[in-house]
Amino acid sequence: MQQTVFELMQQMGHEQVVFCHDPHSGLNAIIAIHNTTLGSALGGTRLWNYNSHSEGIIDALRLSRGMTYKAAISGLNLGGGKAVIIADPAMKSEALWRRYGKFVDSLNGKYITAEDVNTSARDMEYIALETEHVTGVPEYMGGSGDPSPFTAYGVFVGMKASAKKVWGNDSLSGKKVLVQGVGHVGQYLVGHLIEEGAKVYVSDINELRIRETVEKFRTVEVISGDAIFSLDIDIYAPCALGATVNSDSIAKMKCPIIAGAANNQLADENVHGPMLIEKGILYAPDFLINAGGLINVAAELDGYNRERVMGNVEKIYERTLDIYNLSDSEKIHTQAAAMRIAEKRLQDIANVKARL
Ligand code: NAD
Repeated sequence: MQQTVFELMQQMGHEQVVFCHDPHSGLNAIIAIHNTTLGSALGGTRLWNYNSHSEGIIDALRLSRGMTYKAAISGLNLGGGKAVIIADPAMKSEALWRRYGKFVDSLNGKYITAEDVNTSARDMEYIALETEHVTGVPEYMGGSGDPSPFTAYGVFVGMKASAKKVWGNDSLSGKKVLVQGVGHVGQYLVGHLIEEGAKVYVSDINELRIRETVEKFRTVEVISGDAIFSLDIDIYAPCALGATVNSDSIAKMKCPIIAGAANNQLADENVHGPMLIEKGILYAPDFLINAGGLINVAAELDGYNRERVMGNVEKIYERTLDIYNLSDSEKIHTQAAAMRIAEKRLQDIANVKARL
């Protein structure tokens, strides 16, 4: 890490970063609170075996910033936060989750946690034993369960809006779509695409996930290695980890649309946003179209109603088209257009609060 944590916090506008350590359970966690203008910072906890602590810190900082934008653009009264636990997923234990839950509790509701990569509703159940500041808990505990189906549906409608923009028709029937990462979200997305009549290609580094997907959806075609970026496809849907849209991959891409669930897809939004415009590739801003899961867990906080949640997730379609129109009229890349709308809401509400 070339910059210090404080320099990075200043650059990205973070309010608070909390480092949590517990030798007994082996917990090493970082909770990053980016912005609480709109409310408590809500964001999932990612468990990942980072190569270094710096990598974990940077991930927590980038992901929490994305959550601020996601909540703001989705009209939610929530701030942006995210946590990472630096560990091998095999190290998951009741003690680790409960100790982590105590750390979350010590923040008195400023940060509310939920699932993310390698964490499940079952893990949230352990956290809930130590704090009430957790969402995405299982349905039998009064929660809304796994947010992934809602995320996948939001990505699907965002993808359809992107198709409308590019082809004048939002049908995905016959379109060739590559889903990279067939985990929780990816598999639900594949389901929607198959139902719509798309030709679906899948890739994953985990053989088990590939096998599960092929068993569920017989017509998918498996693609491996770096070949994924040079495939002749219509839509690339990144549903694994971030930064897959970078100078190397863009150079190989032939698809007219990128629309997926992964957070922070653009390695550097200032470089790769404009690069995609130049190449004629329409990019569906990640924090805009992958907000379905956040919309779902947020609903747990003020009385859960599934139909209302689905209605709110469907609004991603119109919101995506609005962002494309703004991008055209202002001649800015699509991520910048989405950020502009989110930042305006944050500024407006900050002004309202300053006047109380
Ligand atoms: P997951 O862990 O269930 O699935 C991710 C999948 O990606 C795994 O199967 C993994 O093996 C695979 N993968 C990892 N690296 C890969 C690579 N280089 N190439 C191909 N496959 C690879 O996670 P998820 O919950 O499905 O989330 C997927 C992405 O969507 C993440 O970036 C997550 O932050 C984001 N997201 C998820 C939600 C949600 O509701 N779960 C909400 C918003 C955003």
